[in-house]
Amino acid sequence: MPYEELSRLLVAGGVNRVHALPLFRWLQGEAERDFFGPVERWLAARGVPKTNVERVTETPSGDGWTSKFLLRLADGAEVETVLMGYPGRFTACLSTQVGCAMGCVFCATGQMGFSRHLTAGEIVAQAHHVAAEVKARHGEKLRNVVMMGMGEPLHNYDPTMQALETLTDPRGLSISPARVTISTVGHVPGILKLARNPKKYSLAVSLHGATDEERGKLIPMNRKWPLSELMAACREYSEIKGQEVFIAWTLISGVNDDEKQARRLAALLSGMSVHINLIPLNPTEGYGEQAPESQKVEAFRKILRESGLIVTVRQKRGIDVGAGCGQLATTKRERQPSVA
Ligand code: SAH
Ligand code: SF4
Repeated sequence: MPYEELSRLLVAGGVNRVHALPLFRWLQGEAERDFFGPVERWLAARGVPKTNVERVTETPSGDGWTSKFLLRLADGAEVETVLMGYPGRFTACLSTQVGCAMGCVFCATGQMGFSRHLTAGEIVAQAHHVAAEVKARHGEKLRNVVMMGMGEPLHNYDPTMQALETLTDPRGLSISPARVTISTVGHVPGILKLARNPKKYSLAVSLHGATDEERGKLIPMNRKWPLSELMAACREYSEIKGQEVFIAWTLISGVNDDEKQARRLAALLSGMSVHINLIPLNPTEGYGEQAPESQKVEAFRKILRESGLIVTVRQKRGIDVGAGCGQLATTKRERQPSVA
């Protein structure tokens, strides 16, 4: 619950407004642990836990920095959340839904289908889970949040925005809005709404195809929000916010990695304020295609660069434990505990 709402709730319940701040800070893990001990015990006796996620397993990657958490929610549904660490820079990759309704063929979350939206509290709780680990293991603060876990954040707009309101509150985890990235499959109404949100979150759009025909084969939702509408929404976002848009392009060998497609992408983005992220395909159970060879990735990048575009290749992290882009899913197979 955002601070203002908590404050209103207390006042409506006859509690003095001065108690709102210590209570909010305690809920956000920032105050003395024991301060609300009696409240916590009182709630626990009535079956209300302080947090609404419980860790089932942790699967650390062999890279030593990435770790995947399988978290169980109060109704037994499960989501995955990833801690991505780099020296001095810790990022939580949060889920916004159990599964996803968008059905992208190359994505493990899309392959599992949609179960339900997460509540704002369930999204916030994932960040707290990761923040507590960062503090315990590295003595550092969580500073970055990416809405790139399971689900389509703009399909669950209000709870996602409410969660970010709380996570960026200086009285709580105090994540800077500039260090929040919202990734979308291209949910046009959501992008237009986000453009009018005063907070300067970064927007990432998953493109993967530069014609409706090619994109539609990978992303079924392209039929609902075709490229012309999507690119217009991206331009509007940049204009209103004065911000660049990040474009994600998952490179799939023989599907969208040739020079012709790179040129079409460059033409599509010409004149726009964008930063392209190339993501070589990560393996998932339900999709047989492969990532391109590194020379092919380089050639693709070169064409985009020569067209004056800013391009980076996303560093592979956590692939060994299925914690990479597009690999998050909570199937029976995933529930086998690796680290209890
Ligand atoms: N639903 C949002 C947020 C999830 S972010 C979105 O799709 O943008 C997950 C990112 O990983 C997206 O850019 C997605 O296109 C990409 N992705 C999905 N499956 C992938 C895979 N198998 N390999 C590499 N990237 C993948
Ligand atoms: Fe959903 Fe994003 Fe996966 Fe597509 S890539 S199925 S939108 S989580």
